Amino acid sequence: MCLNSSGNTAFDKTGTACPETGNRPALRRALSRVYVEEGAYAYERTQSILGRLPGSTVIPIKDYKNVFNRPNQPAAMQKQAPALILAVLKPPYLYPGAAVCQDFGERHFFYTSCVMNCPYDCEYCYLQGMYPSGDIVIFVNLEDVFREISEVLKEHPLYLCISFDTDLPALEGLTGFLSDWTDFARKNPSLLLEVRTKSAALSAISKLPVTGNMIFAVTVSPDRISRRFEHRTPPLADRLNLARTALSQGRQVRLCFDPMIRTEDFETLYGELFEQVRTSLPTERLRDVSVGTFRISADYLKRMRRNRPCEVTVYPYTNTDGVYGYEPEHVRQMLAFAREKLTGFLPKEKIFFSEELPEGQPL
Ligand code: SF4
Repeated sequence: MCLNSSGNTAFDKTGTACPETGNRPALRRALSRVYVEEGAYAYERTQSILGRLPGSTVIPIKDYKNVFNRPNQPAAMQKQAPALILAVLKPPYLYPGAAVCQDFGERHFFYTSCVMNCPYDCEYCYLQGMYPSGDIVIFVNLEDVFREISEVLKEHPLYLCISFDTDLPALEGLTGFLSDWTDFARKNPSLLLEVRTKSAALSAISKLPVTGNMIFAVTVSPDRISRRFEHRTPPLADRLNLARTALSQGRQVRLCFDPMIRTEDFETLYGELFEQVRTSLPTERLRDVSVGTFRISADYLKRMRRNRPCEVTVYPYTNTDGVYGYEPEHVRQMLAFAREKLTGFLPKEKIFFSEELPEGQPL
């Protein structure tokens, strides 16, 4: 079964690249084992997801943590052929946004994780430092999350990121979660959702009704960076095509140049990227853009270095207050370069940086 052919997930069980999304050849054994928590069986979503995975081996379990949180798992290997775990999310359902994440000036910034782990495999991904496993957990009780959000919305509006710890559009063919979130957002105008993605899930997104309070935040990287570090993700042209189509449908679109990865020739790579964006998108219709250099908590980096020593993880970063990143002069240089290029075609009010950059500071 090729879930990709509906434009929906990075996994293609036939082992061929998806013609629609352009995802790179995926995994024959992906999702061939599905663990189901005993409390999750009663949910319609569980049955619907299992129905989309015929031929997978279903293994009943008491608690998802017994599988997902086992110590000493080969997480990097699991990423290559992850199992799926269907479970029931327990409270808390909402978390305050982390300091290293951009809040876009929103006062009540929270995130929720209805899926843990991602079908893509970026070498720099913080999830490798956060989770002990490379398997994917899908929580099937979205209604409980919706109930809590409804309570919060009685007190104040909410800016909620729902695709931080996964890539929901890439999994839409399997979960249908975006469709549920869209219905909920339409009924709750004081809720502003952000859906972050590196996918090219055009058909999945195009099926959703247009909703002004749902932002599709498309992360873009130079193709060379993507090929080197963002395994199984669609190429830049396909991600830009997703952004362009979403804009033409009247959707809210944000572009994320985050994380920028430093290379010897980063100015060439990112200069070409900004130019490609300028020439291929109606940039005046973008809601905004975010720009940030690679940064990660010291604890996460420690685990990543142990589990997956690679070019990104072994880089000699600088530790500033428990967060590792490039040395401050390099960060300043990269952000200033991005500002110079982006202000050539975007108003500065629409450009959000991960770190403050003094006005007019020269390169
Ligand atoms: S797309 Fe995002 S969440 Fe998925 S592996 Fe890459 S960095 Fe991690």
